[in-house]
This record gives sequence, structure tokens and C-alpha cells, in this order.
Amino acid sequence: MKYLYKALLVLLLATSFSYGQSDQFITPKYVFFLIGDGMSMTQVHTAEGYLQQTQVGPDKEGTTGVKQLHMTTMPVIGLQNTFASDRFITDSAAAGTAMSCGHKTRCGTIAMDSSRTKSLPTIAEKARDKGMKVGILTSVSIDHATPACFYAHQPDRGMLWQISMDLARSDFDFFGGGGMNGEKVSDGKRSMQPGKPQATADNDPLEAARRKGYAIATNRAELQAIEPGTKTFAYSKDFIGGDWSMPYSIDKPQEDLSLAEYTREAIRILDNPAGFFMMVEGGKIDWACHANDARTVIDEVLAFDEVVGVALDFYRQHPAETLIVVTGDHETGGLAMGFAGMGYDSAFEVMAKQKISFQKFTDTILNDYKEQADWDDEDDDMDSEIKDLLDNYFGLNYSDLSDFERELLEKAYDQTMARKRSKGQEFSLLYGGYEPLTVTATHLLNRKAGISWGTYSHTAVPVPVYAIGAGSHMFEMMYNNSDTPRKMAEVMQVSLD
Ligand SMILES: [Zn+2]
Repeated sequence: MKYLYKALLVLLLATSFSYGQSDQFITPKYVFFLIGDGMSMTQVHTAEGYLQQTQVGPDKEGTTGVKQLHMTTMPVIGLQNTFASDRFITDSAAAGTAMSCGHKTRCGTIAMDSSRTKSLPTIAEKARDKGMKVGILTSVSIDHATPACFYAHQPDRGMLWQISMDLARSDFDFFGGGGMNGEKVSDGKRSMQPGKPQATADNDPLEAARRKGYAIATNRAELQAIEPGTKTFAYSKDFIGGDWSMPYSIDKPQEDLSLAEYTREAIRILDNPAGFFMMVEGGKIDWACHANDARTVIDEVLAFDEVVGVALDFYRQHPAETLIVVTGDHETGGLAMGFAGMGYDSAFEVMAKQKISFQKFTDTILNDYKEQADWDDEDDDMDSEIKDLLDNYFGLNYSDLSDFERELLEKAYDQTMARKRSKGQEFSLLYGGYEPLTVTATHLLNRKAGISWGTYSHTAVPVPVYAIGAGSHMFEMMYNNSDTPRKMAEVMQVSLD
């Protein structure tokens, strides 16, 4: 009887550990902090609705439900406010600082206080000091605001070279996903000097990392060959864009690594008896939201959720020792799951017709078209070639469009083709800073899906926090984004002060 009681108690404890609901927990050995940039509830739920409508179809009642993502199956949910110390609508730097250092700061600031004079310790540095290995991964460049907030300390997010130079100083164990803008900046700076001086540990961030003992892996084979415990900086040289980000998931060549694959490799390289802390950012959800391209957003959210899946697989092997926290840094785009012209209807499946991102369409397809197109002035309507391109890449069949929709497209076409573009309020409201024809195409397709956008910037809407594992109950309820790393620090038994 006594034995049975003991066995039951053990079982009970194990269950409460694995669901993270107990007030008692052991300090997690493995911590995953997964951040979708620009991702709030609408980005997540739009992806879930899209999966349901394209993969499962309407349910028995004829209504359309959702196919849940990994992140929304996690047992604990909270909400965080995102405002910065100087603005209601935050940017990624202030939000990143809040979530890494536990302090609200001014927009643009990387892990420093509001006066931009005092560096603030980050949760990743505290994990390092405790003896855990640390990994920082992102789909944008590694010196972009969100990842930078975990390893760098600079008064301005635009100081890309300085941020990149902080990478080797951090002594973290794994950096991966995107490349370094700082590498390009440094090369540019050097090339302007007579005789172009050699890259050294003082003038070149990549060389600085190399001298510090980092292995630089520039493709899958090189990354896979790296022995566990080796300090690593990994990015995919053949596929990285001019901005050093990974390709959008919708455009990703099969041969390139996904963010989930980088995460799996990072786990392999970081795993050790003292554990690890890993921050992984899905950075281009934000970029696609800025551009108001919902289909590209959905694919980015799904690629990020694959990372959550990898972390959950790891959690299932180490349930009592792992904490996973998934959140966003702010919402971007004012994404609404409804459109004035659609009433109560949604038709997310129409977005399956989109084949490439707004960016790739603009940079390749539209660019090629513009180079050879015969356009003289605003009296010239769209020709059959551009109509075919819009049909092929966005599923917008010109003959099926309403007069109003055609007018919007023709107007945008004129702006795209004109050497000198209009300025003023109408232009900026219609197109933001984007290619007029491309952003009009995604707007029209999104509206047909029953989706609309309120801005080309961020919004102040709170973001969900999903958690599972050791100490995850701490992340329930509503709080400020600056409380999130404080909760994490408490669970990890480190101090951010
Ligand atoms: Zn952001």
C-alpha cells in the first residue's frame, strides 16, 4: 500500500512537471525562447485558418474552423503589453531589450537603458555566466534588432558594424540563420581606405569571430560536420539575400536550410550536461506584415511554428528539465481577419494561388517586365503580359475583377511604370513605401480572402505568450514584456539586476 501511494505520488508529480502546471518545478536545464517578430494572435490564427481551409476543408457544419499550430497547443497562455518607454507603439529594439533585459527602453536601443548610456545585462548573458551554453538564431541578419538585444549593447540599432563586433565578445556558443550586415559594412569601410587593409579582429566582425575560435559554416554540409561543443556561426552563403536574411519561406529553394533545421543543428551542437539557453527569432513575419502580404506572412508563421515543433520534440524527451516560451515582440500591419467588402465571409484558400513573396515578385518578375515593357504615359493600360503575370503569381484574373479593383490595379501600374512617382497622402496610404503594383496585388488578393491591413508599421496590440515545461505557469495572466525575462530569470535562478 505504501509503495502504491509512493508510485502514485511520483506519477502525479511527473504529470504536473510535464504540463508545467505545478508551483513546484526543478530549475530547467534547457530553455527555449522563441520569438515571432511582428507576430500577435491574428498572424497565428490566420495561419491556422489557412491550414484548415487549404488542407482540411470546411467542417461538417459547413463552417470553417482552424487547424492548430504547435504553439497554440501549449498548455499555458499569457499576454504581454509591448509599449516602449518613449512610444505606445514599440519597435523591435525596445521590445527586444524589454524581453532580454527586463527593462522598458527607448525605441532603437539595443540592451541599454533609456538614457542610452548604461548597458543592461541580458537573460542570455546570465545563462552563459551560469555555465549554460547559449544559442542565438534568426531568419533575418544576426545583427538585426531582436537577436542583437540578446548579445550586443549599442545605443542605436542602426550601428550594425558595432553590433556585429559585439558578437564575438559575447562568447556565446552558437549563432545562426542569417548572416552579418556588419561584414558588408566592414568590407565597405575597408575598401574606401587606400590599399584596402586586411580584415583583422579589430576591423572585421567575421574575422573577430574566427580569432575567438568560432567555426564559420556557410552551408549545410559544413554545419553538419561541426562537432558538438564547437563555437559556431552558421549561415547559408549561397541563398542569403543582399540584406543577409534567409529567403522567405514561400521562396525557399529546397536545398537551403530552414530555420527549424538550424534549430535542430543548434540543439545537437549545444547539448551538454550544463544545459543551454536558446533564442530563435522568426524575423521575417514582421517584414511580410510591413509589406501587407498575408500569404508570405502565413508561410513565415508556419516556418517559425516548425521551430516550435522541434523544441516540443526536445521537450518530450526532457519534460522535467525543459522550459519553452513562445511569443511575439509586437504586432505588425494591423492585420484584421475580416474585410469591409466581404462582410462576414472568409475565403483564405484563395491565397493558395500566390506562388512567391511580394519581394521576389518585385525584384525578379516585375523588374524583368519593366525592363522590356512598352509604356509611355498614363493613357497606356496594362498589357496582356502583366495581366498574365498577376494571374500566374497571385491568382488575380483580370477579367474576373470588378471595375473598382481594375481601377486600383491600373492606377498602381502607372505609378510602378512611371519614372517619377507621385507623392502625397494618397500615394503613401495606398502603397506605403512599397512597389505600387505589387502591394496592390497583395491587397486585392488578401481582401478576396477576407483579410485587411491597417498600417505598414507596427501596432500596439498585446501579444500572446505560450509556454510549456518547468516553471511555465509563471507565464500566465497579463503583464509587460519587460516582465517576461524576469519570470524566466526567476525560473532559471539567475538575477537580471
Ligand atoms: Zn519586431
